[in-house]
Parts: sequence; C-alpha cells; structure tokens
Amino acid sequence: MANTQTDIADLKMIRESARALASRFDLEYWREHDEEKKYPWDFINAFAEGGWMGTMIPEAYGGMGLGLEAASIMLQEVAYYGGANGASAIHFYIFPPGCIINHGSEEMKKRFLPGIASGKTVMCFGLTEPTAGVDTSRLTTKAEKIDGGWKINGQKVWITNAQNAHMVLLTARTSPRDPKNPMDGFTLFLADFDRTAIDARAIPKLARNAVDSNELFIKDLIVSDDRVIGEVGKGMSYLFDGLNPERVVVAYEQIGLGRRALELATEYAKNRVVFDRPIGKNQAIQHPLADSWMRLEAAQMMSDKAAQLFDQGKPCGAESNAAKYLATEAAFEVCDRAMQTHGGFCYAKEYHIERLWREARLLKIAPVSQEMVLNFIAQKILRLPKSY
Ligand SMILES: Cc1cc2nc3c(=O)[nH]c(=O)nc-3n(C[C@H](O)[C@H](O)[C@H](O)COP(=O)(O)OP(=O)(O)OC[C@H]3O[C@@H](n4cnc5c(N)ncnc54)[C@H](O)[C@@H]3O)c2cc1C
Repeated sequence: MANTQTDIADLKMIRESARALASRFDLEYWREHDEEKKYPWDFINAFAEGGWMGTMIPEAYGGMGLGLEAASIMLQEVAYYGGANGASAIHFYIFPPGCIINHGSEEMKKRFLPGIASGKTVMCFGLTEPTAGVDTSRLTTKAEKIDGGWKINGQKVWITNAQNAHMVLLTARTSPRDPKNPMDGFTLFLADFDRTAIDARAIPKLARNAVDSNELFIKDLIVSDDRVIGEVGKGMSYLFDGLNPERVVVAYEQIGLGRRALELATEYAKNRVVFDRPIGKNQAIQHPLADSWMRLEAAQMMSDKAAQLFDQGKPCGAESNAAKYLATEAAFEVCDRAMQTHGGFCYAKEYHIERLWREARLLKIAPVSQEMVLNFIAQKILRLPKSY
C-alpha cells in the first residue's frame, strides 16, 4: 500500500482548518438537530464546499489524497464540536469509498468517486442483518445471477444514512455458506439506492438522532455486473481491509467527543458553588476528571500509532482495535463523570452532557463491539484459543 503519511505542519493546518469550520456549528445547533431529528444539511454542505468529503479520495478522482491520520484529525475536530451526530454525518463519505479506491475498477472509480468527494453523492453502508449478529458469516441477503447483473433480496438493519443515500455499499451472499470457509462467497456491490426496490424504515433510537439509522427491506433489487466491487465471492476480504481504518477514525472521534465532555465538566466544576466553595475543590470531583484526562491522552497515543502505521502501509490490526477499545472506554467514562459532576443538571438538555453521554455509549457496540475487540486481541495477539 502506498505511503500516505502527512507531515506534522500539514496535520496542524488540517486540524486548524477543520476546527474553524466545525466551530461554526455550536452545541445548540446539534441539540436542536438531535431533538428534532433534522439531518444537518447546512453542516454537510459547509464541509463539502471545503472539499473535506474527499479527504482520503485520491486527487485524480477529485479528492485531497490525504492519509488516515489527516482524515482522523479532521473528524476529531468535527466530533469535538458536533459529537457523534456531526462525525457520523461525514464518516460515510470517508469510510465506504476505501473499498472502491482499493478494489474497484478504474471505470467505477472515475464514475463514482468524484461525486462522493464533492459531497453530492450520499453513501450508506449495508452489512448488518437482524438475524446474523456479529457472526457476519451468517448474513443471508442473497444476490442471484441474472443476465447482465444480479437480483438482490434480503433484509438489513441499523443502516445509517439510508433516508438520504443515493448509493449503498451492499454485502450479499452469492454462494452458500461453506463451514470450512464461512467468510467466502460474499460479494460487495456499489448499488444505487433504488427506492422502488429498497424500503428504508427509520428506527426510533436512543441517540445520534440527527442522522437516521434504518431497517432495509430489499426486494428484487437489480444491480448490473459493473457495480460489483473487485471479484465475485471475495467481498468480505475487501471489507476486512477497511475495518482497521474505520476503527482508527472512530477512536479519534470518541476522543474528540470525550475532550468536549471533559471541558464542559471542568468549567462546571469551577463555577458551581456548593457549601460556599466550587465543587471542583473536592477531590471526589477533580480526581475522576484528572484520571479521564490521562486516559484520553493515552488513547490518543495508541490512535496516533495506529493511524501512522496504516499510513506507512504497515500492519496495524492490534493497534487499530486497541485504539477503538481504549478511546471508547475513556470517552464513555468521561461522559459519565461529567454527568456526575453536573449533579441534577446533567439531566437538563441545555447542558449538552446527557447528549454526549448517550452518543458515547454507542461505540461500545458499533461498529465493532468491545467484546469482539477483546476476542481479537486474545486470539490474534496473545494466541489464546478462539473462544467462540
Ligand atoms: C446506531 C447504530 C448505527 C449503526 N450503523 C450501521 C451501519 O451504518 N451499517 C451497518 O452495517 N451496521 C450498522 N450498525 C450495526 C452495528 O455494527 C451492530 O449493531 C454491531 O456490530 C453489533 O451487532 P448486533 O447488534 O447484531 O449484536 P449481537 O451480535 O446480537 O451481539 C449482542 C452482544 O453479544 C456480544 N457477543 C456476541 N457474540 C460474542 C462472542 N462470541 N464473544 C463475546 N461477546 C459476544 C456482542 O459483543 C454484543 O455485545 C449500527 C448499529 C447502531 C446501534
């Protein structure tokens, strides 16, 4: 893989530019969009105009051609100001195109990447199914060969962005499950989001409500042969290639969100006076916050290591998984501590903490659960027997 490392001065500039743009959308903007379940179009358009949707798309296809560390830093600033709502609105322009860039045909890249880079094409990613769980070998959405293409039938769940998506990166079985090679036989399609064949029903959910997540009912979706990414039957291996960068990106996002919660809690602890003194004078308030600062910084170091290894084209499975795990633990914990620091006011939406707390919780489950990260480290790094 090509070296896409960005030098430190450029990374600093990227952080400052992303911060300047993200800070135009304040906490009130996100509270309102979350509460009213309003898609943040003006925020997306502002980032699209700045060219940020194509951060990792090569320049030849209309993008910036930058690496993972650069994209992660941009998304960390987005998450600091906009939490998970802001991050997930942009995330889908950054993550799914990786499969097209690395495995798509030249024609596919020329035809579709410029639209994604400009922000005009909204993408979603359709992997999860209601009956398979984290055992993705059990996915049952099926693509059947027809003349010139494929006919797809099945059901997906939790598909984020589907209400507005123009295209879906869709995984379907093209041959039956072979117990000896259960991950073989899946094909990855870059399908148009044809609403005559896909019924997308938004799921009422706990958090991140500015960006929808949906059940998809797919009935006779026709996809032409030229929309197959790479080779038929190898889709899952292409997706696995993209998992490490996604884990790194979400780790940076979580740290951004966690730092915002820490800052809000620290300010509140300085200003809230009880027993004639600021509550921040109590060690029971200040120690957990100090501990969280250290945990966020440690998670940042692991995330930086993972991003840099990826950009150097080196293996980064352990570091990417560890970054996602550590960032998620640190971010949820600091949000919870920020709740405690705010006392009863943590329940009031105007303080924004409850929203960040709800948002941080998701990353313990998705895009990969903490348990599956521990399984990976135990099995692949410690060489312990597979536990499931
Ligand atoms: C808001 C939201 C947005 C999402 N967006 C998308 C999207 O855009 N596209 C998409 O494809 N998916 C999306 N997902 C799906 C998400 O990736 C899955 O929910 C997640 O991977 C967990 O799968 P599951 O819900 O089927 O859990 P299950 O597989 O049912 O697991 C339940 C619990 O059991 C644990 N568990 C299961 N097996 C083991 C084991 N062997 N060892 C230890 N623990 C185990 C899991 O870790 C988990 O905690 C989204 C989910 C949510 C909630």
